[in-house]
Amino acid sequence: MARYTGAVCRLCRRESQKLFLKGDRCYTDKCGLGRRQYVPGQHGQGHNQGRSKVSEYGTQLREKQKAKRYYGVLESQFKGYFELASKRKGKTGENLLSILESRLDNTVYRLGFAMSRAEARQMVRHGHFTVNGRRVNIPSFLVKTGMVVALKDSSRSLDKFKMVIEANSSRQPPKWLEYDVQSLSAKVTAAPAREDIDLPVEEQLIVELYSK
Ligand code: SF4
Repeated sequence: MARYTGAVCRLCRRESQKLFLKGDRCYTDKCGLGRRQYVPGQHGQGHNQGRSKVSEYGTQLREKQKAKRYYGVLESQFKGYFELASKRKGKTGENLLSILESRLDNTVYRLGFAMSRAEARQMVRHGHFTVNGRRVNIPSFLVKTGMVVALKDSSRSLDKFKMVIEANSSRQPPKWLEYDVQSLSAKVTAAPAREDIDLPVEEQLIVELYSK
């Protein structure tokens, strides 16, 4: 399956939930979900109203789609993360979210260097970030405890970073990242825990889906 490149607000409407895919627009009354709360598609409004019961499989599938879309990952990647999560100690669902949250593109977004995960992914690809002092341009790179993620020296003077850092200056980084505003870098102090992740998803349903 290719990466979804259509109108992203449709994805939020499909899940009837804000997935924050469009940057600052998501936090304003321009948010598409506020204006159109029905499922998109040819039969969207009427079909949705008539729908009374969603199957167990349908519910599990929706939770998986929600998580995939929130982090912007492909089906094959997502399945790979699930397999990795199931090999780790602890609850597979929580491990899965912790792995997704540890992606470098998400880390950059959480630090306020981008307005959306999609933008963060592009910035990482363009080589604007270092991990432990070395340039890393792989959005799916998983950060680990003790690593230091930083905006590259030569990128700090770019207007786009000055603007986005200023716009996000009131955003608090999560507990697992120790952010240093002077050096525009952050140390990973722990693996992301479930309570640090604001994704409105029931991860156990994803585990049930893949366990069938
Ligand atoms: Fe989703 Fe953001 Fe579009 Fe609102 S503006 S529907 S949160 S992508």
